[in-house]
Amino acid sequence: MKSYDVVVLGGGVAGCVLAARLSENPDRSVCLVEAGRDYGPQGDGWPRTVLDARGLPRDHVWERHAAAHRIRARIIGGSSCVNGCWNTWGAHADHTDWERAGGERWSARAMEPFRRAAVDHMGLRPVPESEFSVWSSAALDAADELGYPPVDMGASGAPGYGTPLINSFDGLRWNAAFAYLDPVRERPNLTIVDAALVDRLHVVRGRVRGADIVRGGERTTLAADDYVVACGTYGSPAVLLRSGLGPADHLREHGIRPEVELRGVGANLSDQPGVFVPLAPTGALDAALAGKEAAGDLYVSRMLVRAASDRCPPGSWDLHILPVAGPPLFGSLPPGRYEAGISSFLMKPASRGRVALRSADPTEALDIRPGFFSDPEGHDLAVVRWGLGLVAKMAATAALGKLVQPLGSRPAALTDEEIRARTGTYWHPVGTCAMGPADDPYAVVDGTGRVHGLSNLRVADASVLPTVPAANTQLPVLAVAELLADAIRAETGGR
Ligand SMILES: Cc1cc2nc3c(=O)[nH]c(=O)nc-3n(C[C@H](O)[C@H](O)[C@H](O)COP(=O)(O)OP(=O)(O)OC[C@H]3O[C@@H](n4cnc5c(N)ncnc54)[C@H](O)[C@@H]3O)c2cc1C
Repeated sequence: MKSYDVVVLGGGVAGCVLAARLSENPDRSVCLVEAGRDYGPQGDGWPRTVLDARGLPRDHVWERHAAAHRIRARIIGGSSCVNGCWNTWGAHADHTDWERAGGERWSARAMEPFRRAAVDHMGLRPVPESEFSVWSSAALDAADELGYPPVDMGASGAPGYGTPLINSFDGLRWNAAFAYLDPVRERPNLTIVDAALVDRLHVVRGRVRGADIVRGGERTTLAADDYVVACGTYGSPAVLLRSGLGPADHLREHGIRPEVELRGVGANLSDQPGVFVPLAPTGALDAALAGKEAAGDLYVSRMLVRAASDRCPPGSWDLHILPVAGPPLFGSLPPGRYEAGISSFLMKPASRGRVALRSADPTEALDIRPGFFSDPEGHDLAVVRWGLGLVAKMAATAALGKLVQPLGSRPAALTDEEIRARTGTYWHPVGTCAMGPADDPYAVVDGTGRVHGLSNLRVADASVLPTVPAANTQLPVLAVAELLADAIRAETGGR
C-alpha cells in the first residue's frame, strides 16, 4: 500500500490547484489521482481537439453520447480541457449564502485574494481585438443601444455588458493542468497517477484509512494522512456514496453499508439552464464569419450581458444574455453556413436536481437529474421568459438587426412546455456536497471542506458550493480551490 501525506482524488480544475498548492511544502508528499489521461507538459503530445479553443470537444468526456447536460471531462485538467475558456465572476449577493454556510472566509472581501490568485495563476486575460467578429462587435453596440453600461466581467459589480476573461492564447485552450501542474511537475514530493478510477474510500470509525483505485484492471489502495476528493459535482458525491457516506436508504438499496449518514450527498444539484433563440444570418454575416474562420480566429462569442429580471434583488443580476454566431457547437451545418442566435441563461436557479448511483460499480454511469424548472413557484421559468423578452429586443436593435433576418415570432410567448423542450445548459453544476453547518442535516462539508463526521476527509471542488454564483463557474471554482488549499495549509501549521 503506497502512502502519502495527502491524496487528492480527481485531477480537474480544483484538483490541479490543490496538488500544486499543497505540494509547495517540500515536506508534504502529495499524490494526485485522475481517471483520464495525463498527456504531460503542454506540447504536441496533447490531442488537437483539447488544445483548440475555438470549439467544444466532445472527446475526453465520461459519456460521449449522453445528453448535453451530463458532459464532463475525463482528463487531467478536467473540464478546463473541454470548456469555453470563458471566465466571469458573480455578484456580491452570491457570498451571502456561502458565508452563512461556511463562515467569514467565504465573504466577498475574504475571497478576493483567492479570486486574484486564480486570475493570475490561470493566466486569464481580456479578449484581444483580433478575436472580435462582426457579430461580437455589433452585440456590444446592441447592448449599449439597450442602455446597459459597460462592466468588468471578471469582478463583482452591477448589471451591464462586457467581455469575459479568457484562458486561451492564439487559439490554444490553456487548461488548469498547463497553468497549475506544469510549473511543478518536477517536484519530488508530487506524484501524478493518471488513468486511475477512484472507486471508494475505506472508512473506519470516522477516519478514512485508504482509497481504492483501479488502474489498468488492477486494484490498489492508496493510504494517506488526509484525503481530498475533487472529482467534480457529479464525481465527488459518487465517490462518497460508494464509500458509505450518504443517505442510508440509497446506500442500502445498492448493497453499500452506511458509515456516516449524510443526507445531502448527491442532493441539491444546481445548474444554469438556458434557451437559445436562433436567428437567420444574412448573407453578409455568413460571408464575414467565413472570412474570420479562414483567418483562423472565429470564436462563436466574445461578449455577454448580465441582466436583472423583474424578479432579481436590487444590485445583482440573474441572467446572462449570450449572443453567438459561428459553427454550431457540436456541428451540423455545411461549411460556410453558420448559426447565429442569442441565449437567455438563468444564473440563480431556485430548482434543484440530484446525482445518484445506479449501482456500487464505479464504471456504471451515474443517474443525473438536473431538475431544470422543477421549482414549484415557477420562478425559474418566469426569469428565463423575462430574458427571452430581452433577447427579442437585442435581436431587433439597429446594430444586430442588420446582420440577421427579423424574428418571425415572440420568444417570450413560448409556452412553458416549449421552453422546457428547448432548454439547454450552461454546464455549471454545483451543490451536490454542499457546505453548511454541522446542525444542517443536508450539509456535507464545513467551511474548510471537511466532511461532517470524518476527521481526515475533505471535498474541494464545485460540489461544495451550496448555491451557484451568478457567473460561469471555472473562475469561482479555481478561487474555491485556492481558498480550500489555504485552509488546509493553515490547519497544518501554515505548511
Ligand atoms: C462542456 C463544458 C463547457 C464549460 N464551459 C465553461 C466556460 O466557458 N466557463 C466557465 O467558467 N466554466 C465552464 N464550464 C464549467 C467548468 O469547467 C467547471 O465549473 C469546472 O471545471 C469545475 O471544476 P471541478 O474541479 O469541480 O470539476 P472538473 O474540472 O470536472 O474535474 C473533475 C475531475 O475529476 C475526475 N474524476 C471524476 N470522477 C473520478 C473518479 N471516480 N476517479 C478519478 N477521477 C475522477 C474527472 O475525470 C475530472 O478530471 C464548462 C463545463 C463543461 C463540461
